[in-house]
Amino acid sequence: MFLDYHIHSDFSTDGKSSMEEMILKSIDLNLSEICFCDHVDYGVFTDDSFMVDLDKYFEKLNLLKSKYQDKITIKKGIEFGLQRHLTSYYQNRAKEYDFDFIICSIHAIDGQDLYLDSYFDGKTQIEIYENFYNEFFEVVKNYKDYNVLGHLDLIKRYSHFEGSSSDDYFYDIIESILKQVISDGKGIEINSSCFRYKLPDLTPSMKILKMYKDLGGEIITTGSDAHSTEYLACKFDYIHSVLKELGFKYVAGFNKRQPEFFKIDDILK
Ligand SMILES: [Zn+2]
Ligand SMILES: [Zn+2]
Repeated sequence: MFLDYHIHSDFSTDGKSSMEEMILKSIDLNLSEICFCDHVDYGVFTDDSFMVDLDKYFEKLNLLKSKYQDKITIKKGIEFGLQRHLTSYYQNRAKEYDFDFIICSIHAIDGQDLYLDSYFDGKTQIEIYENFYNEFFEVVKNYKDYNVLGHLDLIKRYSHFEGSSSDDYFYDIIESILKQVISDGKGIEINSSCFRYKLPDLTPSMKILKMYKDLGGEIITTGSDAHSTEYLACKFDYIHSVLKELGFKYVAGFNKRQPEFFKIDDILK
């Protein structure tokens, strides 16, 4: 059954369910593997919001991993909120702890959270999208301590405009990001939070998923980005059917930062 490689617990500032609640619901849903990827967004807020006490996080994960080992595989992941000037901070964190899996996401630019309105003031939609993809490209050129890029076109969720700009405007920069990812042996995720946010396309879009496949991308993980039990493995039947349609035969899991491949046909059995 499914692997949900992007779930949050209440170790994240915006997480609503405890790790144990997330695990119990995942067992109910018959998921084969889950990977906690709580938020570390350093250099955004002046307080400890969106930071995780990693010692406590690992202690809890290790405890629950062995408690439920006969029922479900639990992986130790993290979602790092990168910014171009913070690569060495995240390099150090990545090496300090024994992560199975690291998601590299962009949640902020120039220290400003994209969730907050202030970043959008006085900028056009095209400018904002360009800044977002340029930030991702700068990060992936310099930062290598990750496994997949999180929600590659997240900016569509936050942009405060009517509808979203077509990927065609940003084709070159998105292509550069994907080529860098592929040549570094990294991957991307398909993130099913698009259904929760009622977005008109997948995250990333069909066009970007196809571009990744056409460029030779092989490593793809499936994540719900659930912050509460109700969204675990949301629409996973559908996203697996889309991946198959696009020609992907495997989805990836990770063990101590190394990919393991699972046949989509076996997952869907
Ligand atoms: Zn995220
Ligand atoms: Zn997330």
